[in-house]
Amino acid sequence: MTVVDRQEWDVVVVGAGGAGLRAAIEARERGARTAVICKSLFGKAHTVMAEGGIAAAMANVNTGDNWKVHFRDTLRGGKFLNQWRMAELHAQEAPQRVWELETWGALFDRTKDGRISQRNFGGHEYPRLAHVGDRTGLELIRTLQQKIVALQQEDFRETGDHESRLKVLQECTVTRVLKDGRHVCGVFGYERESGRFFVLRAPAVVLATGGIGKSFKVTSNSWEYTGDGHALALLAGAPLLNMEFVQFHPTGMVWPPSVKGILVTESVRGDGGVLRNSEGERFMFDYVPDVFKEKYAESEEEGDRWYDDPDHNRRPPELLPRDEVARAINAEVKAGRGSPHGGVFLDVSTRMPAEVIKRRLPSMYHQFKELADVDITAEAMEVGPTCHYVMGGIAVDSDTAATRGVPGLFAAGEVAGGMHGSNRLGGNSLSDLLVFGRRAGLHAAEHAAGQGRERPRVDDAQVDAAAAEALRPFSAESGAGEEGDGGPPENPYTLHQELQQTMNDLVGIIRREPEMEQALRKLAELRARARRAGVEGHRQFNPGWHLALDLRNMLLVSECVARAALERTESRGGHTREDHSAMERAWRNVNLLCAMADPTGGAVATAPERGQIVLTRETTEPIRPDLLALFEKEELVKYLTEEELYE
Ligand code: FAD
Repeated sequence: MTVVDRQEWDVVVVGAGGAGLRAAIEARERGARTAVICKSLFGKAHTVMAEGGIAAAMANVNTGDNWKVHFRDTLRGGKFLNQWRMAELHAQEAPQRVWELETWGALFDRTKDGRISQRNFGGHEYPRLAHVGDRTGLELIRTLQQKIVALQQEDFRETGDHESRLKVLQECTVTRVLKDGRHVCGVFGYERESGRFFVLRAPAVVLATGGIGKSFKVTSNSWEYTGDGHALALLAGAPLLNMEFVQFHPTGMVWPPSVKGILVTESVRGDGGVLRNSEGERFMFDYVPDVFKEKYAESEEEGDRWYDDPDHNRRPPELLPRDEVARAINAEVKAGRGSPHGGVFLDVSTRMPAEVIKRRLPSMYHQFKELADVDITAEAMEVGPTCHYVMGGIAVDSDTAATRGVPGLFAAGEVAGGMHGSNRLGGNSLSDLLVFGRRAGLHAAEHAAGQGRERPRVDDAQVDAAAAEALRPFSAESGAGEEGDGGPPENPYTLHQELQQTMNDLVGIIRREPEMEQALRKLAELRARARRAGVEGHRQFNPGWHLALDLRNMLLVSECVARAALERTESRGGHTREDHSAMERAWRNVNLLCAMADPTGGAVATAPERGQIVLTRETTEPIRPDLLALFEKEELVKYLTEEELYE
């Protein structure tokens, strides 16, 4: 049997971003002994990169705002495919979560009369994003981290041990969720520095591992985004929902090549920045879709007036939801009206005084100065779409964050699906993390408490299998030939590059059937080769080994994206089909679920050419009538199916 360290906890949270930390705080406050695991250092999760702000209808800047308006905007942004109960809870609870952060020490920017300031963002009817300059995620994580340390100090005073009730295991990667029958019983993982294996036994596990962007070549996402939680859930038997919806943020850096994909926050447009093509035109006026026509300005003059007088003017089309802006930029570049490096121009320099730009957008100012030698107070930025966020994710119960069919397994944050429908509005992720992170922690703690003494047991055979799987890259040569996929050892970095290129080129922002078929064939080939991904050296901090293990996850998740994208023969939100360019009402109430083809979760046992994923359709739960009543009938006609309208 492999040597593994073992610990016992009530709740294990995988991930220390906004969702994971908020879940851990809640679980600990509900009395559960809680461990948090993260791949990077504590305080360095992807959430620190969040820039623009947290969306919450606090009505600090415009008193017209309330949760119902926020709910409406969220459903419009998601093109009515959102899990409506999640959108409702999110809109209702987000303000409390922001005020709570403030009581825990978060220092938000203020309005002149001293309230938390809120800024405009795409798709939000009113200024709604609470922010700290353009470094909001950093402040959010700093605050949650501080709260965790405060709880640990409280525990020390009572028990003499800081980690008696809340422990953070940093630079550790979970590779398997362990089960006792149907029930979760813990997790298996390795310490990145030493390579040692560990098992944390627990009756409740919360997955809060973030997104999947590292499967794409051009992305704003951090190195952590290898789709681990999505794959862990799949392998444990929990399905993923609507994985075809991947958000391509309209404005990533396009130059120089080394920084391609790095995000240019939407706050630039929220604060007045405009998009122009190579002919100097503000082209977004040509791209307002019918469903949004009444809500957006028809002329530059009206759009500009809106910044000072939003009650009597309509917003500029630069503030359309992200999917619309990304497609428009793509179309302009394709039509030959792009900037020198294949993007378009985003200009604040002619819109605001230099000192205002430096104060409101400090990170952007430094980012362009240091990385591209561009002074955004004097010249326009060059920007283009970048893979940014995955709306699809683990299917969860809206109220409890429980996954389907695996008791004890919960999910929150970007790894969970449903909340954002087919397209997320900016700012709605940070609030999602807090609202559903809290809910996941609460219900995980309750689940653990409900287990009594008869907790699920860890099966040593599963631990041994997980250890053998993790060690396979060290014996890639001897593994060659297993199950008919023999061949020489493969370099994990080469495989990763080929995967990223495949997803970027064939399942990217604009999709076509033959290309997605081609992508699935390529993914099958990569999967067979990835079984021979080999590494040299030993288990002490070995990034090649880590990547070899991450490949399993990226390939699984990429297959889900490609399979679901091929199945959905319409265009909606973050899924654009050139061969099915219209949004079809008949698809409005259809969810696509991906599960492992092999119900034992043994991905490796399935024949490569058949793929590992089975895809099923399900009809969404009808939207509650009182929530539908928040919309005008004329608007609903554009989205709902005939039967839904009739009812
Ligand atoms: P993360 O913060 O990514 O945390 C994931 C955690 O899981 C990490 O601790 C990681 O180490 C850990 N982990 C992953 N896999 C494993 C594993 N196998 N084992 C152990 N640990 C693991 N949203 C907004 O609402 N407003 C914004 O202004 C905004 N700006 C953004 C700017 C940028 C540049 C980017 C890229 C995104 C932005 N977003 C924004 C989106 C938002 O930041 C993310 O969706 C959100 O932070 C995700 O949080 P999370 O808690 O789900 O995951």
